[in-house]
Amino acid sequence: MSFLEVRDLKKKYPDFTLDLSFSIEEGEFLCLIGPSGSGKSTVLNILTGIENADEGKIILDGVDITDKPIQARDIGLVFQDYALFSNMNVEKNIQYGMNKKKKSGKEIKEMTALLLSYVGLDGYEKRRVSSLSGGEAQRVALARSLASEPKVLLLDEPLSALDGPLRKRLRSVIRNIHDKTGITIIYVTHDREEAFAISDRIIVMKDGSVVACSDAETLYTHPQSEFVASFTGDGTLLPSSLFFEGDERSIFFRPESVLISEESIKSELKPSYLVINNTEIVSIEYTGSHYLICTSFKGHLILASTLVRPRKKIISLMINKESVTRL
Ligand code: ADP
Repeated sequence: MSFLEVRDLKKKYPDFTLDLSFSIEEGEFLCLIGPSGSGKSTVLNILTGIENADEGKIILDGVDITDKPIQARDIGLVFQDYALFSNMNVEKNIQYGMNKKKKSGKEIKEMTALLLSYVGLDGYEKRRVSSLSGGEAQRVALARSLASEPKVLLLDEPLSALDGPLRKRLRSVIRNIHDKTGITIIYVTHDREEAFAISDRIIVMKDGSVVACSDAETLYTHPQSEFVASFTGDGTLLPSSLFFEGDERSIFFRPESVLISEESIKSELKPSYLVINNTEIVSIEYTGSHYLICTSFKGHLILASTLVRPRKKIISLMINKESVTRL
């Protein structure tokens, strides 16, 4: 049995039905991604007990917590909007949920200092919450959620109120906390790059169901469906019959899997590649790290990424067969 098992969970709203199962191992960092409205927050709300499921079971560390009240679930939650107590200083906020009965005053102080050091705010104990920046407030919220020593920590879009560079810094703080404490984490985000950067495993949700579940690399390089392919990044979907006669499926590949050449390529000399000669460049976008090139071939658009801007308008493409997914 896994550390956390979510079995046949069902929740019906007038215009939406959640119906899913998944499990997590102890110490795993799992991301839930999916478009807005796919049911990510509903899953978290049911796990914490804010919402009740219509059917299904939640088993945590061998204990059925499906009907337990929020406080008795051993599950911590961090929201996007911090939800700190503005009338208390940082130290009081962190100690709020701490199980103080079993700890001496010295242990409480030491644990507060340790949690503050995890989130990179050493010495912030006496600071007023109102004096904190957005990034600092979210760090305090993280420290407070860890103070109750939950078995699982749920994070619901915790960084979406923060801007680019700060988001990146804080996501690595969260990953470091995970690695230091070994806590089991479920992290909800609509940002696939964030999920790729920090997770051990990713669940993709659509319309209340799980449509994919794997590590980031498998998800990206060999997506299980057209939806997962397009949700996880740029790519090209072509009829397989363009290359394999009679095959009614599609092939999918990422721009990085395409090599370009300004000369024609003899396909018999490149057996491990799909070769496309004489495609016309439709557009070139410079992204800062590479060029994203869009070419046209028999009425289809193909994306390729290159480090050097092509000089010719008509180019040839080679796609590594191993990086092609049949869908
Ligand atoms: P996500 O977090 O992926 O954006 P949500 O879990 O917030 O998705 O919402 C999933 C769907 O459930 C949405 O269509 C939303 O309108 C609906 N929903 C969520 N909560 C309620 C509710 N309390 N009553 C009715 N519909 C709800």
